[in-house]
This record gives sequence, structure tokens and C-alpha cells, in this order.
Amino acid sequence: CGIVAGVSTRNIVPILVEGLKRLEYRGYDSCGVAVHQDGVLRRTRSTARVAELQEQVNADHVQSGTGIAHTRWATHGAPAVHNAHPHFSGTLGPEAAASPQAAERGARIALVHNGIIENHDELRDELKAKGFRFESQTDTEVIAHLVNHLYDGDLFDAVQRAVARLKGAYAIAVFCRDEPHRVIGARAGSPLVLGIGEGENFLASDAMALAGVTDQIVYLEEGDVVDVQLGKHWINGLHADGTLKTVLREVRTV
Ligand code: GLU
Repeated sequence: CGIVAGVSTRNIVPILVEGLKRLEYRGYDSCGVAVHQDGVLRRTRSTARVAELQEQVNADHVQSGTGIAHTRWATHGAPAVHNAHPHFSGTLGPEAAASPQAAERGARIALVHNGIIENHDELRDELKAKGFRFESQTDTEVIAHLVNHLYDGDLFDAVQRAVARLKGAYAIAVFCRDEPHRVIGARAGSPLVLGIGEGENFLASDAMALAGVTDQIVYLEEGDVVDVQLGKHWINGLHADGTLKTVLREVRTV
């Protein structure tokens, strides 16, 4: 139901958690955060309040300049920790299946999503046939595996090819173990904004989530895919012919 994500040279975990708190008014049944830390993707998820997620990340010393966070309002799959976002996709061999810790060590892609993917059954069948192992009942997990399947060293490219396969409504934020200072966002049917800071950039479903962090906001448009990096960003927008091309979007002071 809410997304906060970003790339910075400082620890952004407090910004992500504070952002989730500012989105709590929308309602949610679970919440979670994933970061890039010590060369791996780390994830904390909870069916309790954001305040408890905050205690958990503090106790576990979760710290990073790159991360994504989410509050979920379940549409597909019961409200439960294993269905909470972020969802991971990686090198899920038998060892990974044996323990959550091993699954996290093997994770390459982490993703959060607001909305509903209508063709999730078809995509799940296709990805299962390719060997991807699903650990949730959500429609969202298909996007994580699809991005991983299409990943060939450039996350911006993989996400653009993945969203071309999606039917339904989405705002997503994705990052990759192999590109530690990059988060990719995309939206169609669900809101997503880009927040531009000083040498750091953020994504959120509502500019209010970034209050006190930055007041420089780009309201992304239908079909936009945004490449969020340290001190720079890039937006590809949907053209009339169905292809994605570089666009300039107005930066507003909120
Ligand atoms: N459809 C997704 C799920 O059920 C996302 C729900 C949301 O927007 O929070 O997990």
C-alpha cells in the first residue's frame, strides 16, 4: 500500500522507516524493508506495526545507503510474513530452500509493489517451468522472478523489459545485489514520485513520505521507468508507439 526507497551515501534505513510511518494512515497489514549490506541483500518483515519493524532493524543493526521499504495491503495471499514485501529472487537451489538464511544469501533481486498484477497466473506458470521457486502466494513475487530472469547486468534494462509483460496496476521499486548504488522504479495505475536530494535520490508512493528529506519532487507519469542513482537519475517514458524513450519531467518544489 506504500513504498519508500532510495540511494544515498548515508545510512537511509531511518529515512525508509520514517517514510513508512508517514504512510501508515493508508492502512496496511504487514510491512518490510530490504537493504544492500555487506555485499548481500538483507530483509526484515513483520505483521506488526512499523514501530516494531523499527525495533527489529535497530536490534539487527540493519544499515545501508541503498534500500526499499513497503507497507502491504494484501490482495493476493493472506497477510503473513512470508507474503510481506520485499520479495526476493535469486539462486534458489535446494540449499536455499532449506533455510530462510540461505535463501537470503542467494538473493539477487529485491522488489516491493503496490497494486495488482492481473496476469500473475500465466507468468507464474512460465517462471516455474524455467525453474523459479515461489515462496509466497502473492501476485508480486512473479515480478521479482521475471526481473531476475531478464537480468543481464543492467537492472534498468531488465525492469523495462519486465514491465512490458505486466497487465494490471503497479508501482514498484527494485534493486539488485550486483548494482549496489541503484534502485529502479516504475509505475502504471498506482502512484510513485521521485524525490531529488543533494547527491541522493528517493522514490515514494506519496511525496509526504519524504517530508524533511527533500522537497524536490517529480510526479512520475503512466508507464514511466526511472533509474535512481547517487546524484543522478534518468526517466524513460512511454511513447505513443509503445516504446520507452528518455523524457524530461518537471521538478516541483512541494
Ligand atoms: N498485490 C500485492 C500483494 O497482495 C500488493 C498489495 C499492495 O498494494 O500493498 O501483495
